[in-house]
Amino acid sequence: MAGCVLLGVSLFWFGSERLQLLAAQPLIWVMLGMVIIGELRPIATPTAPTDNGSPTSLPFSFALIIFYGLPVAGLIQVIATVIAGVARGHAAHRTAFNGAQYVLSFGVADAVIRLFGPDTADAPWIPEGAHLIVVALAAGGYFLTNLVLVECAVAMHERAPLRSMLTKDIGQRLFVSGVLLSLAPLVVVAMTHSVWLVPLFFFPLSALYISATLSVKREYQVNHDELTGLANRKLLILRTQEALSEAQQRNHRVGLLLLDLDRFKEVNDTLGHPTGDRLLQTVARRLTHSVRPGDLVARLGGDEFAVLLPQVRDAVSAREVATRLRVSLAEPMRLDGMDFDLEASIGIALYPNHAPDFELLMQRADVAMYVAKESRSGVDLYAPHKDRNSTARLSLFGDLRRALVEGELEMFYQPKVNLDEYQVVGMEALVRWRHPQRGVLPPEEFVPLVEQSYLMRNFTHEVLELTLSQVARWRADGLRTPVAVNLSARELLDPTLPDIVTAGLRRHRLPARVLRLEISERVMVTDADAITPTILALADLGVSLALDDFGTGYFTLARLNGLPVQEIKVDESFVQRIVDDPDGRVIVGSAIDLVGTLGMHAVAEGVETARVAEAVRSMGCYAAQGRYFAPPLEAAEATKCLRKHKALPAEEHTRSA
Ligand code: C2E
Ligand code: MG
Ligand code: MG
Repeated sequence: MAGCVLLGVSLFWFGSERLQLLAAQPLIWVMLGMVIIGELRPIATPTAPTDNGSPTSLPFSFALIIFYGLPVAGLIQVIATVIAGVARGHAAHRTAFNGAQYVLSFGVADAVIRLFGPDTADAPWIPEGAHLIVVALAAGGYFLTNLVLVECAVAMHERAPLRSMLTKDIGQRLFVSGVLLSLAPLVVVAMTHSVWLVPLFFFPLSALYISATLSVKREYQVNHDELTGLANRKLLILRTQEALSEAQQRNHRVGLLLLDLDRFKEVNDTLGHPTGDRLLQTVARRLTHSVRPGDLVARLGGDEFAVLLPQVRDAVSAREVATRLRVSLAEPMRLDGMDFDLEASIGIALYPNHAPDFELLMQRADVAMYVAKESRSGVDLYAPHKDRNSTARLSLFGDLRRALVEGELEMFYQPKVNLDEYQVVGMEALVRWRHPQRGVLPPEEFVPLVEQSYLMRNFTHEVLELTLSQVARWRADGLRTPVAVNLSARELLDPTLPDIVTAGLRRHRLPARVLRLEISERVMVTDADAITPTILALADLGVSLALDDFGTGYFTLARLNGLPVQEIKVDESFVQRIVDDPDGRVIVGSAIDLVGTLGMHAVAEGVETARVAEAVRSMGCYAAQGRYFAPPLEAAEATKCLRKHKALPAEEHTRSA
């Protein structure tokens, strides 16, 4: 509004006859041409987007202020701004703002000249000698007004603090504007001598523009991802650090979101990298359009993205942003005539709630992202208790190595009892860690840790070694009982597992049939294809196999698909449903029937009462395990139990019924 009024008033005062007179001169048209070209070729600074820099039109428009004053300079500048705005597809409000911002800054420069310059009345003014100081003052006035106007707008738009916007790149901006403005008096000299001298400025300005653009481009490449044009890790670190120090002073929160595409690898592998690349570009575009100006979207490599929220109210708003990002990706993407459904998992960490610096913020967002992925919740906020890397866990991890060397692992044994004769028909070996400070730790406290580490093979070896040497001792004592050992997903994914088992059996001179290996249903659901070769190789050795924790996931027996499994262990959560849930009773009952029909044994886990024992027996379970019979026992106790109950005469697991 102010710019509009100022331009209108000054044009009115200038008068239309003089304008018409000027329009008859070629000089004005040449100048207009130079200003338009200059508007289309701004000199960018590394941190400002390309079309926000100092325009190379400045020498000409400023020369117009010196020569004719505000009305002519303002009018030509506004015309050029509108043309450039249309050419680059800027929004109308943005173009209007740019035009007004020029008029106001020019107005300040013009006022300085009028105040301190000689009274030239209406004749064009050609500055010389000491007058150049007045021109310098006017240039300073222009620069400051322009800076404040533009940065106020940007700061409001990006919700960034004005002070940091004003000082950003200030040295470089001063320099570039100084160079451009210093050319203005020379343009004036050219204007007074011959109109045709003016276009010659095109060449030095082009040189300036090209070299500046090249260096900015280089700088841009260092800070941006080539494929998507998003910020890269380097720029993300820089911006996060800026945001953190800002947040510290002004006491607000910073959010860091880490986003990972689910199943992107499949797209890349099946459809090829060019398609994958285009998909990533689409993802980048959608993400950029779902955040506020001032937020930064970065690509960290592969299918991993990060979003920095330099100012976020609370965890709820951070979650909102994350949800918006996910929704933006949920829309199917059309590529090569095919629709792709992409899903993403997002982890959120906040400053100062979760971490004080970039490193830790990133790590915590990463943890949250994995939790989101694992739980399929899509979005997760960092929570220390879900952090496997929390300090307690990390120190436990350090101890694990020692535990394996010092022999702190121990096997407990839980009897498996036949439900018709109440005889012990086998033992399940369950690992414990006798931690010197923390006491006896159950497997869920450290097996997941083992799975994440390079110690896994040593662990498998140790468990088998402990168990098989116990079996050998029992055999020497005349207690011939088969023993089951549990295997985790990672252990089953290890192609050397059959060799480790063979070597263990050979070392203790044991036949393969004394050993049964339990594979959790969870593993069968997620990794069936990957572990099938290992399972077949194990079966070839002659060890028998059991499907553990049946009923916890979405596994159906049909998916066993001919795998040589002899026993199905019905999970305790499933077993518990028999008692007070009539539907559960029917479901469990028919599952047990099916197990029998398929020629396998059903074993009930977690049997805690006589009632449940009787129930599972009547439903056709062959054996059961649980505290009703005996809890997991230390080796010595297990030996006593075996002696008392007299182990089976034959140690074989009865292979199919
Ligand atoms: P699992 O193979 O299903 O083992 C049965 C779990 O049920 C054992 O927990 C056992 O102590 C518990 N349990 C026994 N009686 C009852 C009862 O009456 N009621 C209830 N609710 N639970 C009962 P534990 O020993 O803590 O083992 C947990 C899991 O850790 C095992 O589940 C197995 O998947 C894994 N695991 C145990 N030992 C090893 C090992 O040596 N290697 C690997 N990879 N995993 C192991
Ligand atoms: Mg088990
Ligand atoms: Mg189980």
